[in-house]
Amino acid sequence: MAVDLVTRAEWGARQPKGTYDRIYSTRGVKVHYTGGRVDPRIVDDHSRCIAAVKSIQSMHMDGNGWMDIGYSAAACPHRKVFVGRGPGHLCAANGPGLNSGHYAVLGLVGNAGLVVPPPGMLHGILDAIEWLRKVGGAGGEVKGHKDGYPTSCPGPDLYQWIQRGAPRPKDMVVPVVPLRPIKQDQEEPVPEVVSLGLTAEVEVPASVDWQPWWTEEWRDTAGWHPGGGQSIAPDVDVWADVAAHVALRGLEPGEPVRVGLTRHFADGSPVDIAWPVGKLLTVYADQGGRVEVDLGGQFKLSLLHRGRVTIRHKSTGPVVLETSSAFKAIMHRYSR
Ligand SMILES: [Zn+2]
Ligand SMILES: [Zn+2]
Repeated sequence: MAVDLVTRAEWGARQPKGTYDRIYSTRGVKVHYTGGRVDPRIVDDHSRCIAAVKSIQSMHMDGNGWMDIGYSAAACPHRKVFVGRGPGHLCAANGPGLNSGHYAVLGLVGNAGLVVPPPGMLHGILDAIEWLRKVGGAGGEVKGHKDGYPTSCPGPDLYQWIQRGAPRPKDMVVPVVPLRPIKQDQEEPVPEVVSLGLTAEVEVPASVDWQPWWTEEWRDTAGWHPGGGQSIAPDVDVWADVAAHVALRGLEPGEPVRVGLTRHFADGSPVDIAWPVGKLLTVYADQGGRVEVDLGGQFKLSLLHRGRVTIRHKSTGPVVLETSSAFKAIMHRYSR
């Protein structure tokens, strides 16, 4: 597949202040993340990717005093490659003395908000690398910013992916940390099944603009939950196999509802949408104003994360989540 470039004109780049230093080849490419918070809503809205890249350029030009955005290129969740300084031009993002050795490609993830690169972004980073090889003389190396420079960049998820050889995602679900084989005696600290069934019906508040997240913590009435009533709160890093049955009533016939399995930080701020990958599933109420949907998938929960079911609707009437709802997780520990 050819690289899907977003030209500087298309993303509304400012003109560089001055002329680029030319380079004709590099040993390879270094991968970066933003280091700050990336709005997880970029996953659903490419216009937010454009806004994010523009603000990075302004930060680099006005804050750092650079002549342009520091990166050679940037990749967003939609497998699009933003042209930064581009091939044949010295980048500025790798650190003093390290820019002639490698081009710099940004993945639009950070250390908060969107932290796990979606499959489309990994494809985009690889598309950018192939493009820089083809037209910019980039060599075969793929490294992280932290290789040779003291920084957390490109963050644990991208860096582990690089260390695994930066493989193309094979399917929609991208395990970023390999599963460790589990011995029976290692399973002890992790509850095998977390039951979060409800004892009473719960009214689901309407979402104003599709954006708010479901904020209620689901009680663990069986008392198996390690976090004392949080949605899913692992006490070690785990892969969670999650199945959730959502049954809602009180909607208008045909009215849309969006549901998904999501990850949050303990303070309630969203990490990302874990299933369906990168998007909430849209389902429509039947003639009786009901919706029933089964969600299932596997996602990674670190100590920092809480797994939840997110439900969004815009109904004006009371929408009720029925007692039949359930949420189970079988967890496997993984090691970093
Ligand atoms: Zn970096
Ligand atoms: Zn995008």
